[in-house]
Amino acid sequence: MKILITAGPTREFLDPVRFLSNRSTGKMGFAVATAAAEAGHSVTLVAGPVQLDTPNGVRRLDVVSALEMLDTVQRELPAHDALVMTAAVADWRPKRTAAEKLKKRDMSAVLELEPNPDILKTLLPQKGDRIFVGFAAETGDPLAEASRKLAAKGLDLMVANDVSRPDAGFEVDTNLVTLLMPDNSPVPLPLLNKLEVGRIIVDWLERKKGRTDKA
Ligand code: C5P
Repeated sequence: MKILITAGPTREFLDPVRFLSNRSTGKMGFAVATAAAEAGHSVTLVAGPVQLDTPNGVRRLDVVSALEMLDTVQRELPAHDALVMTAAVADWRPKRTAAEKLKKRDMSAVLELEPNPDILKTLLPQKGDRIFVGFAAETGDPLAEASRKLAAKGLDLMVANDVSRPDAGFEVDTNLVTLLMPDNSPVPLPLLNKLEVGRIIVDWLERKKGRTDKA
């Protein structure tokens, strides 16, 4: 299978030195890419700014902003059978990016922002029989939010995780996730290493592709 995976945060620059971003380190997306390459799939990994080595056998394309990530994913999607959006895409970007470093005296306490496009929603019309997987990092009631996003984004699988736990989500090597699908009951997984979560997602993709090919 040809699998397109996004990972890491995006950076939304105010000027050449300042940006908005988030706590994503890219570990989960790189783990999915590692598991997919190990299983013999052809993997393209679109990575935001992260401090991680490229997994063996993976084609890596580096991007910085959400708009660059959208452009790259849009260009690559036609050549792939599945899209796994692990990236923590910044929801907002500054309305203006200054070409020169802003002087403290020229900055105001109010930062004007505009929303970034939702990459999954933008690409939904081009989905065809491709498999789309999303990740939902939530606090509060992770399953309720994640099932809303599963439907809103037209996904085949949503991987929900509670990022308020110290052993799951951002920066750590383990994750505690629940798999949500449109027609099945939620599947909670135990606390696992991110590579093990990656392998389970790749297994799920292989089974889903098998069913799609037969249908
Ligand atoms: O940020 P949110 O919780 O909506 O993210 C859920 C899923 O949507 C993730 O898979 C993420 O990669 C994707 N997403 C996206 N475009 C955005 C924001 C999030 O595709 N602008």
